[in-house]
Amino acid sequence: MAAAARTLRIGLIPGDGIGREVIPAGRRLLESLPSSLNLKFSFVDLDAGFDTFKRTGTALPDKTVEVLKKECDGALFGAVSSPTTKVAGYSSPIVALRKKLDLYANVRPVKTTAGSSGEPIDLVIVRENTEDLYVKEERTHDTPEGKVAEAIKRISERASSRIATMAGEIALRRQKIRDAAPVSTRSKPMVTITHKSNVLSQTDGLFRETARKALAAERFASVVKEEQIVDSMVYKIFRQPEYYDVIVAPNLYGDILSDGAAALVGSLGLVPSANVTDGFAIGEPCHGSAPDIEGKGIANPIATLRSVALMLEFLGEEAAAAKIYTAVDANLDEGKLLSPDLGGKASTEEVLNDVLKRL
Ligand code: ATP
Ligand code: MG
Repeated sequence: MAAAARTLRIGLIPGDGIGREVIPAGRRLLESLPSSLNLKFSFVDLDAGFDTFKRTGTALPDKTVEVLKKECDGALFGAVSSPTTKVAGYSSPIVALRKKLDLYANVRPVKTTAGSSGEPIDLVIVRENTEDLYVKEERTHDTPEGKVAEAIKRISERASSRIATMAGEIALRRQKIRDAAPVSTRSKPMVTITHKSNVLSQTDGLFRETARKALAAERFASVVKEEQIVDSMVYKIFRQPEYYDVIVAPNLYGDILSDGAAALVGSLGLVPSANVTDGFAIGEPCHGSAPDIEGKGIANPIATLRSVALMLEFLGEEAAAAKIYTAVDANLDEGKLLSPDLGGKASTEEVLNDVLKRL
């Protein structure tokens, strides 16, 4: 008798702008996964974003948080527009969600396909997402010489340890996926710890020491460990991106490195991310709400499709994730049905259908 299918309940939060065009593509992808994977999905539509704020006075309704916490195994988040001038009472719902659900890791893979010029890039940045300078404890003093402002940079053993452990787990999982794909050239997983402990010996020093300790665990024996000071990391990630596998960093450096690395692959429309805590993940394309192309049906859905796969990886569904990555890469490699941001003429729908066909 066949094993019962696993059913995953997925929260769908389209948000604003092209979020409303790409999240439905993500849903269709999940619904179209081959039945041989033995996976089923149920969906719940949830509100968040600037339009929600304008309608209800809050960008992140309590109900959205409740349903995610109580009912969902994972979620997909589209994009929210950030008003250009400050609007009283409005703050980013994804930042609030990260806090409320303790989504302590932001994971951002950056990958080129076989068809691209140069050495293939296939790296992932694992950014700590709860502390560092982002605790937002700032003060301004008036002094005889004028104003002085200061900010707290908080680094804890607990947060550093769990993010490094996650980086190690991701490195092992990526190696497993690579070993199954004959095209891969990397033979060992690698984690690079990024820091600035030559200057910030206590805060970044603690991050570095703790990360080192966490990665010294027996189950990471096969993982090559490296350390890189963040400024030379920036240099090397642009000069030699193909060298890297998994990069783990405190919040601020991770933020900067992730956006910088996204520039290596051409379009924002290609880059996925996931906001992760133990046992739960929200897939989120890296792009914003893109008001300039909203409603035209030409948003590139690939960042979202890859975010769906990334979410599935964190829910333990590696085989399903691998199928999606392969289908997306095949679409890009063939290069016949590309959206306008990649120089093509295809609509969101046409790109999606081409990927679905390849599943
Ligand atoms: P927001 O304030 O929501 O971040 P934005 O104006 O900064 O909006 P982004 O979404 O960050 O817009 O996009 C920056 C540029 O990249 C825009 O020109 C946008 O059209 C383009 N872009 C972003 N995502 C995609 C996509 N999925 N497909 C095609 N083009 C995209
Ligand atoms: Mg933007």
